[in-house]
Amino acid sequence: MVVAGAGLAGLRTVEQLRDRGFGGDITLIGAETRPPYDRPPLSKKVMAGVIDDTSLPFDPGALGITARLGEAACALEDGVLRTATGGAYPFDALVLATGSEPVRLPGPGAQRTLRTLDDALALRALLRPGLRLAIAGAGLIGAELATAAVAAGAHVTVVEYAPAPMLAAVGPDIAAVMTRWYADAGVDLRLATGVSSVQDGGLALADGSWLAADEVVTAIGARPRLDWLDGSGVHTETCVLTTERLETSAPGVFAVGDCAAYLSGRYGRRLRFEHWDIALHAPEVAAANVLGGSEVFDPVPYFWTEQFGRMVQYAGLHSPSDRLVWRGDPAAAKFGAFWLDADGRLTALLAVGVPKDVVQARRLLLAGSVAVDPDALADPSVPVRAAALTG
Ligand code: FAD
Repeated sequence: MVVAGAGLAGLRTVEQLRDRGFGGDITLIGAETRPPYDRPPLSKKVMAGVIDDTSLPFDPGALGITARLGEAACALEDGVLRTATGGAYPFDALVLATGSEPVRLPGPGAQRTLRTLDDALALRALLRPGLRLAIAGAGLIGAELATAAVAAGAHVTVVEYAPAPMLAAVGPDIAAVMTRWYADAGVDLRLATGVSSVQDGGLALADGSWLAADEVVTAIGARPRLDWLDGSGVHTETCVLTTERLETSAPGVFAVGDCAAYLSGRYGRRLRFEHWDIALHAPEVAAANVLGGSEVFDPVPYFWTEQFGRMVQYAGLHSPSDRLVWRGDPAAAKFGAFWLDADGRLTALLAVGVPKDVVQARRLLLAGSVAVDPDALADPSVPVRAAALTG
């Protein structure tokens, strides 16, 4: 067995293969020289200076595997994975877990990104009172970095191309609430503003204006790197495409985590998420199927983000046409929002500071197609589970 990519999804794949009784050879190949580590804390506790290390428990000896760290897979042909350092690894089965890489802006100026532990440590060392920090992108990473940077006394400007932050993920109503969080934190959020290029000393904006900055961080999204799969028989578009069983189009090759889009029966389409929860759980299914099983991966998507002192959790997947039901006052420190489809069935929820609502709503979402009473959902004194209409 060969696993390419030694992040969370790669490590979990290896662990799952062993947990499921596979006793043969496993080689884990990772481009980074560091052993596997967790990424969500990089923009949270690492950036806030609370921790320096996010290593995941990893003992190749105890797992009985060969770890080839600092080796990037560069070609795949005829059942052999080749690496840039000259390694050749024949396999019976291969799991791709190569994650994604930050998208960069055009222009000759220096721009930082936040993907690796080294990125995070370097960025944190720059934060200081008075630093003029420009962040391109008001997504999850942009918001979390802005949170840490203002806490360190930096003057933070966030430039967002869309008319609201996290718009695609949470829709316009929640995004409007989030917009106020930036203002309350003292962050200068410039919406509907494109960046033409990164230049020395700042950003050239699409409207012709100039944003001066001491440091620029680009947080406009991440994409899997796929060029090395050209000619391999693995079908890719903007990511690796898999079936509901996480198989790619090449025999014996599977894909998990940020690099892959899986076919979802629940939602009737292919989905790709950059969610920690997917990287954690997809390897369970991939490992089972590598070993001859026929398991289907079809979770209720889930992510969280910690921004401006709030714990935000989202589960499910709503469509723009779904009806939004507020639960509590969105101006308060804690509130929820639920999406219902045209038949009154729960499709998603977002909760700020109310994890117990998330636990109960996730159960309803997992059960699938549960109609709910919107009045009960809107009343924070009624437990979410009690809003389900069972009759
Ligand atoms: P990765 O973690 O990217 O690991 C892939 C590994 O493969 C990398 O080490 C890479 O170097 C290696 N690799 C790449 N190409 C090759 C190659 N050719 N050969 C060998 N190795 C290769 N999700 C949430 O749900 N909530 C959060 O709050 C949250 N916060 C985040 C904050 C930050 C700063 C970041 C960057 C991500 C965050 N995420 C969050 C997303 C989450 O961390 C990812 O979804 C998860 O890390 C994906 O795991 P992965 O193993 O698929 O990919």
